[in-house]
Amino acid sequence: MTIYGNEPNLQLIRTMAEHDRLPHAALIYGERGRGRKTIARYFAMTALCREANKPCGNCPSCRKILQDTAEVHPHPDFIWVEHSGKKQGFSVETVRGICKDAIVAPNDGERKVYLFADCDSMDIRAQNTLLKLTEEPPPHVLLLFTAEHRNVFLATMLSRMMPLAVRPCTPEDCRRALTEDHGIAQGDAERAAAACAGNIGRALAWLQDPELQEMTASVGEATNALADRRLYDLLRILARYEKDRFKASEVLRLLDLQVRDAALLKYEGTEPAGCDRESAQRLSGTLSAGRSRKLHEAVQSAYEALQANVSVKLVLASLGGSLLL
Ligand SMILES: [Zn+2]
Repeated sequence: MTIYGNEPNLQLIRTMAEHDRLPHAALIYGERGRGRKTIARYFAMTALCREANKPCGNCPSCRKILQDTAEVHPHPDFIWVEHSGKKQGFSVETVRGICKDAIVAPNDGERKVYLFADCDSMDIRAQNTLLKLTEEPPPHVLLLFTAEHRNVFLATMLSRMMPLAVRPCTPEDCRRALTEDHGIAQGDAERAAAACAGNIGRALAWLQDPELQEMTASVGEATNALADRRLYDLLRILARYEKDRFKASEVLRLLDLQVRDAALLKYEGTEPAGCDRESAQRLSGTLSAGRSRKLHEAVQSAYEALQANVSVKLVLASLGGSLLL
């Protein structure tokens, strides 16, 4: 299992296991595509490993976890809790089932590990149902959660979870992961790593999705238009997405990251988060602190208007104006 850019997290998990201090609940959180589930598997592998040097990667338990994928879960004590409902949260029935199951001793070893993956739509009822188990788990239970943001959880839940923030890996690590683990050609890997700011999961999706590639290219063009204050070009680029609220939102999210980069690239050692470094660098040269804050606010309020169902066409047109006023 190769995990890029998260050695401090893995080290922490190993040290806790070594001192027999693994928590009963942990939350692995951060941007989608940054390896939250891979870290959860590593956590489970460490907790369930039967050798002294955990995770050994070789014992029958470790081997089963190494074969675990999103679809196949060969280890009987590493349990992926099923999503349910329209929003892909967890139903109260499902959670009740887990609470019952958690009382039963493990099948194979000393622990049972439950993974609640992608908890971003886990509602309050489900969390309340889970609260007692999280507060007073049987000694053999380890609950793992993954989510984009911590604040999806109730404070009472959060206070029982050990938080682990996934760390972004560098574009260099991302390129290595793409070429070495996924057999992607060097040139493609470089382009994908740059367009996705080193997010491996996103880079893999980007390589297979021409629409995503087109969107990152548009955002680069828009950033250049912003740097040169070319209003009509900016409007023309934004108008490409006026028929698709989802794509328009994604474009604004990416544009906001470009503005963030432009504001921060002046400072050394900042890793870019946006999809086109060159144009962010150009924009950076034209920005005062006040102006970058205004750009960020304009993009943010347009993004919010899109989520609030305001006409996409209207939002994009008025954003073009307010960016260049
Ligand atoms: Zn092992």
